[in-house]
Parts: sequence; structure tokens; C-alpha cells
Amino acid sequence: METKTGTYQSVTTKKAVIMDQSFRDSVATINAEGKRNFLFPKKPKGKLYNLRTAISLVYLAVFFTLPFIKVDDEPLFLFNVLEGKFILFGQIFWPQDFFIFAVGLLAFMVFIVVFTVVFGRVFCGWVCPQTIFMEMVFRKIEYWIDGDAQQQKRLKAMPWNAFKIRKRATKIAVFYAIAFLIANFFLSYVIGIDNVLKMVKDGIGAHPVTFSTLIGFATVFFFVYYWFREQACLVVCPYGRLQGVLLDKKSMVVAYDYVRGEPRGKLKKAQIDLSQGDCIDCLACVRVCPTGIDIRNGTQLECVNCTACIDACDDIMTKINKPLGLIRIDSEENIQHAKKNRFNWRVAAYSSVLVLLVGFLAFLVISRKDVDATVLRTPGQIFQTQPDGRISNLYSIKLANKTRKDIPIRLELEDIDGEITVIGNALVVPKESHFQSPFFVKIHPAKIERRKTKIRIAVYQGKRRLETSETTFLGPGG
Ligand code: SF4
Ligand code: SF4
Repeated sequence: METKTGTYQSVTTKKAVIMDQSFRDSVATINAEGKRNFLFPKKPKGKLYNLRTAISLVYLAVFFTLPFIKVDDEPLFLFNVLEGKFILFGQIFWPQDFFIFAVGLLAFMVFIVVFTVVFGRVFCGWVCPQTIFMEMVFRKIEYWIDGDAQQQKRLKAMPWNAFKIRKRATKIAVFYAIAFLIANFFLSYVIGIDNVLKMVKDGIGAHPVTFSTLIGFATVFFFVYYWFREQACLVVCPYGRLQGVLLDKKSMVVAYDYVRGEPRGKLKKAQIDLSQGDCIDCLACVRVCPTGIDIRNGTQLECVNCTACIDACDDIMTKINKPLGLIRIDSEENIQHAKKNRFNWRVAAYSSVLVLLVGFLAFLVISRKDVDATVLRTPGQIFQTQPDGRISNLYSIKLANKTRKDIPIRLELEDIDGEITVIGNALVVPKESHFQSPFFVKIHPAKIERRKTKIRIAVYQGKRRLETSETTFLGPGG
């Protein structure tokens, strides 16, 4: 892997400036002819890599287990965009709950911004599904089939022979099988695992459209993990593009301590030249980088904060008996002024905004109603006088039951004497569905003083008031 590295001006002032900026003239993934430079990152090892592996295992276990977890026979999570039905933590959300979704989306976006401003792009390297699947599933399989970076390079340069064909065929088959499995599980988050299993049982012929869609998604996943790889983060992901405006000198990022590391030089020279910094220019940090950059050039858009270079450099520092952390998670400001401060008022302020927003979201979710009711006076109808002298108006009630059980309800007039007569059967709102019913409100003329009287109709489930709707009652007037 060819890299261009910047050289620093004297760091005695602790204000190092990269003098050679030629690394900005090219990107590691494009060669001099403008073609794709396929990267062969060395297999990382170290404490952080082990921690990432452990977190990824939990992550993958959750991803592949969640579709099987049910609450009242419904999935714990469902994102059925086709039918507009969403289930989060076992709670069904309907299009009527769009407001909660909008606040949730807003909270999520603020969370991303706040988190990035304070903690940098750590989400990319540790939580993003693209990185988890790429680095912790497909890359590990690749190391297992093709070997480490040097063996992969040799295999690529090798002419096509039985050995290479066998290796490539095995990799393609294993990658495609996993891509197909992932596509199936993503589908189960949309239509539910029961439907996916049923389709598998019914066979391809019974569901040609779904199967073709699955093959399409599996092929895209395969293409991304087999060939496109880091380009998804560098070229496609909008989050990566936002780094330039989200990060500042106080943001915690994977950073090279140039104050300590510069001037860099080979190990032998370092033993006789005491003015040399701790970086021995071994390029171990560059060799493990999955995006092919040299973090010693400073924070770059390509850095996904995977921390592989921290492990690589710590390993070198251990071998040459120097303190760990020449590359570490720190802010530019801390490195420049040799400070260790990881907390500041900005962190507190941003975190408070986030806590408030998440609190508001939690309130909306907890106070969400099981039944939504809308009462409307039937348009075009005027009042009628009943045989007993009372005035009646015709209304219609629209109800949405968001729960998994049928809900019998009754209607009551509030603040005014009168009677409600439902036309047809008693009001029972079937589970997970909408229901509409007409009804009459009858009020004695003596209670009506104006032509239009505001009335309130309460919706009860047993003794519990679910909702109150306000509407108008037409009468002869005073
Ligand atoms: S520079 Fe380091 S943290 Fe950033 S992507 Fe490369 S190896 Fe990962
Ligand atoms: S691994 Fe550490 S010592 Fe080696 S080049 Fe990178 S920063 Fe310098």
C-alpha cells in the first residue's frame, strides 16, 4: 500500500504544522492512473480490536435474535413500511403516531450531531452496521480464506490457476451465502420472521416477486462487501461528509500525538538522536488502516475511528519500551497543549440538550394513547326534532385501536345533559385496526342557548377515559 505522509515542522513550540501537504493530492484508494487501488489492510490485533470483536458479537447476536422475540405474538421490532405498521419494543405505532416518530427522528439526528461533536466518529468504527459486517464478519472470513495482507496481495498478483480459482470460488460462495442470510434477516425486520419462514416453506414459485427482491438485496450486499468496501464510507455515506462541519479542535477523535511523536525517524537513528520523537516511522498504523490513510497527517474524512491504528502503534511502543498512546483517542486541543482534559462545558451543554430531548421522547411514548378517537358532526345534516321534543344531531366517530386486543368503548357527554345513541351494535374497536360508527346526540332544547353549542364527548374504556373530543351541536338557537 503506497502512502504519502506529511512531515512536521519543529514541534518544540508545540505548534507543529504539517509542512509537506502532498498527501492531500491523492487518496489512498485511487492509484496514479485514476483506477481503484484495492486495499489490503493487515489483520489488526490488540486490546481495542478484542473489545470491538466482543461488542460486535453481542451486536450480531442481537441482530439475528431480535426477529424471533415476540410480545403477545407480535415481533419486538417491526418496520413494515409497506403497510405503515411499526413496532418498537413491542409497542405498535401507526401513522397517527407520526408526531412521535418525527420527534424520535429529530432526537436521533441531534444525538448524532451532539455525539459526533463531542466524541468524534466513533459510531462509524464501533456501531455502524456497514463497518461491523465489513470488518467483523466479511474481513475476518477473508483473513481465514485468503490469509493476511501479504498473502492476499500475492494471491491477487498470481496468475489464474487451480489454487486461485479454488480460493476465489470459496470466498464468493461464502460471501454470497452470508449476504443472502443478511438480506433475509433485514426482510424479517420489515414483514416479520413468521412471514419470511412461511415464504421459505412455500418455495420460490409461490413468491417470485419477494424472492427476486431478496436476490437483488443479497447481490447488493455481496457487491458492497466483496468489492465496494471502504468506498461505502468514503463516497456514499453522508455522515462521513458531515465530519468537516461537526468536528472541531475539542472533539475527541483518533489522533496522533505529533508533539510527542515528531520529528519522526527510524529506530536506529532514534537510539543515537535524542531529539527525535517517539514515532519510528514503522508505518504499522498505516498497514492496518481499512481506509488506507496515515493518521499522522491529522484527522481526515476517511478515518472511521476503528482504532486499529491505536492497537498497532501501542504494540510498537511496547516493543521499543515507550509509553503507550502515541496514537490515541484525544482532542487536537489536548494534544497541542499537552492537556488531559476530557470534560468541558460544551460536553455538559450538548449532553443536557440530548437528555432533554430523549426525556421528551420518552414522555411522548409513555403517554401515547391506546385508542385515537376523532368525532365529526356529519356534514350536510342539520338538527332534527325527536318525538319526545329533544333536538338531535348526527355524528360520526373514527377510532384507531393501537393495541393487540379488542377494546369495547362507550361514549359520554361531558358538561351538558343529554343522551348518546349509537347506531347499530355496541362499540367494540377491533385490535390493530380502524373503526368508524355513526351516533346521535340528543339534548333537550332548554339546554341549548345558541344555534351552535360547543359540546365535549368523552371516550371511555370501562372507567378509564381514553380521549375527549370537542365538536359543535346545532339547534334552533335562542
Ligand atoms: S486512521 Fe486509524 S482509526 Fe482511522 S480508519 Fe485508519 S486505522 Fe481506523
Ligand atoms: S505505528 Fe506508531 S511508531 Fe509506527 S509509524 Fe505509526 S505512529 Fe509512528
